[in-house]
Amino acid sequence: MEENKNKEQTQQGGRKRKRRHRHSGGGNNAAQNQQNQQNQQNQQNQQQIAQAQQTQQSQQNGNKQKNKPHNNQNAGKQQPATQSQKNQNHSAKQQNVSNKEKANDKKDENRKDTYVYMLDGNLYINLTNKCSNGCDFCVRNERTSYYGHHLWLRHGEPTVDKVIAQVNGFGDLTRFKEVVFCGFGEPTYKVAEMLKLCDYFHEKGVKTRLNTNGQGNLINKRDIIPDLKGKLDFVNVSLNASCAEKYQPICRSQFGENGFTAMVDFAKQCRRNGINCRFSIVDCIGEEEVEACKRLAESVKVPLYVRAYITDS
Ligand code: SF4
Repeated sequence: MEENKNKEQTQQGGRKRKRRHRHSGGGNNAAQNQQNQQNQQNQQNQQQIAQAQQTQQSQQNGNKQKNKPHNNQNAGKQQPATQSQKNQNHSAKQQNVSNKEKANDKKDENRKDTYVYMLDGNLYINLTNKCSNGCDFCVRNERTSYYGHHLWLRHGEPTVDKVIAQVNGFGDLTRFKEVVFCGFGEPTYKVAEMLKLCDYFHEKGVKTRLNTNGQGNLINKRDIIPDLKGKLDFVNVSLNASCAEKYQPICRSQFGENGFTAMVDFAKQCRRNGINCRFSIVDCIGEEEVEACKRLAESVKVPLYVRAYITDS
């Protein structure tokens, strides 16, 4: 700023010197006339200079006014959303999803619900749309289908037989790396169905994995971990944040901050019960938070997997 001011003064000074030099170099009349003319000219020049300075000053003031919103950091900067604004945005997103879904329902009245879908060499099982969380980054918030799979269940949650009927359409299951319980909801709401299906898939020679928010014990109001042993070959628990205070604003567990504590404990207990289990986080949470999650995972002796945020379908 100071540097610009100095440049401006130098430019003005330059203009003043030029004008004086130009006007002082008039014709060859009598000395008095010449002096009078010179005096008049000087007066005019001074008036012009004063006028020019006034105009310049008022232009600068005008520019300051115009630029105010850009110069004012707070005006240009987005204020951090309050929790209530975030909740309102989240509700608006959910409403938007619901509206999109209704519009899609109208377009495709006869579309069957998807309980089973294929992705990246795995077979995925979509048992429910219930979830105890309402995560900001959930793919459910952004789209009504996931990689072309319509995972919103319009005709209710499937029975084990209905799932198996769809699984049969995929032929030999041994070509899949794993069968993963993961859809547009938290699979532990359907723990009984999931465990029966685990038996079915093991009989077919396929490994099973659960992707969970880790709140299954709170959801079922009992310790479900002993039931999972021998049924699930792998459990992936979404950690998402390094502490309850950071988890709750982005994941909105219906159990409040207990959701986070129960989730960490769930992963710990899975490992203590001999179930192969890890935490996962998405890389969009920021480097510092990723590091804090690593420290937490280490402290409870649960491995951590950092995965890329899914941005496109
Ligand atoms: S826990 Fe999973 S399914 Fe539930 S809202 Fe979060 S990302 Fe979506």
